[in-house]
Amino acid sequence: MKSYRKELWFHVPSRRAFVNITPQVEECLKESGIKEGLILVNAMHITASVFINDDETGLHHDYEVWLEKLAPHEPVSQYRHNVGEDNADAHLKRQIMGREVVVAVTKGKLDFGTWEQIFYGEFDGRRKKRVLIKAIGE
Ligand code: ZN
Repeated sequence: MKSYRKELWFHVPSRRAFVNITPQVEECLKESGIKEGLILVNAMHITASVFINDDETGLHHDYEVWLEKLAPHEPVSQYRHNVGEDNADAHLKRQIMGREVVVAVTKGKLDFGTWEQIFYGEFDGRRKKRVLIKAIGE
């Protein structure tokens, strides 16, 4: 069995953003040489997510509005976590959008459903953060 590990770095210039990282994950899969197996992609920070959904700007806007209703950034004083920091909402947004995805690898390709793409969800950006890729298979 083959095993592959890589860290991808992101530096999102805004507080929040969704980045389609499917091309980078496909590049990693190619580099791994794995044709049949599984690939895990997870955010290595508790204020960022990795999730799968549609690459559609209307939907991304809807996520932003929905997440702000669930866990508004302001006022930062509403959160007990915000003692010396202001990112409590980012932790909550990360929880709902998820930590990781696992995708089946079939014939050397990501075995997606219709319209599925992998996203990095940033909720407390303006600094360097990592995503872990781990692939196993043959
Ligand atoms: Zn925090």
